[in-house]
Amino acid sequence: MIKVDSEHILEMLANEYPDAKCELSYKTPFELLVATILSAQCTDVRVNIITGDLFKEYNEPDDFAYMKQEKLEELIRSCGFYKNKAKSIIGASQMIIESFAGNVPDKMEELLKLPGVGRKTANVILSNAFSRPAIAVDTHVFRVSRRIGLASGNTPDEVERELMDAIPISMWSLAHHLLIFHGRRRCTARKPQCEGCCISRYCKYYTKGGNRVE
Ligand code: SF4
Repeated sequence: MIKVDSEHILEMLANEYPDAKCELSYKTPFELLVATILSAQCTDVRVNIITGDLFKEYNEPDDFAYMKQEKLEELIRSCGFYKNKAKSIIGASQMIIESFAGNVPDKMEELLKLPGVGRKTANVILSNAFSRPAIAVDTHVFRVSRRIGLASGNTPDEVERELMDAIPISMWSLAHHLLIFHGRRRCTARKPQCEGCCISRYCKYYTKGGNRVE
C-alpha cells in the first residue's frame, strides 16, 4: 500500500464524485431533521418519496407535535420502523416547541436531547443545515473508512474521532459525503468493486488482497 495522507485520498474521491452532497430532499433544518430520522434503515430515495408528499402538508414542528401517532405512522409506513420513527418525530417536535422556541437547535449537546437523535443524525443536521464542520458516521462511512485504512475503530464514535484527527476540519463535511457516495456506488457492503477504484493503490483492503475489513 502506498502511504498517502487523507487529504489526497479525499481529493481523488472528489474528482470521482464532483456532485457529492446530501441526497435527502429538504428545504429547512426541521425538514432535514424529519428526513434524517426517517432515513434510518431506509434508502434516501424511499425517504424522498415519502417526504415529497408529507412536506406538502406537514413541515413545521407545530404540524407534528399535536398529531396522533397513528396518523403519522400511516403517512410514513413505507419507510420501515415507522412506529419508532413516528414517536421520535412527534417527541422531537414537542421538545423543539417547548425547549427551543420552535427552532431546531444548532448545537450538538442540544440536538442530542431530541428524541430519536443520536450523534450521526446530529452531525448530519449540523453539517448540512448549519454548515458546521462535522463528520456523521453512518454505515457507509464506517465501512469505507475502515476498509481504506483511514480509521480502525470498532464503533461509530471511535471512527468519528479517528476521522476528525486524520482529516483537515475544512474537509469534514465533504469527507462524509464522499465516503457515502463511494460506499453506495463502488465500495458496497456486499462486494466492493475494487478493479477500477480510483484509490485502490492507497486502500488497505485492496492492497492486503481483499482481506475483509468490515
Ligand atoms: S479498493 Fe475496493 S475496498 Fe478499497 S476503497 Fe476501492 S472499492 Fe473500496
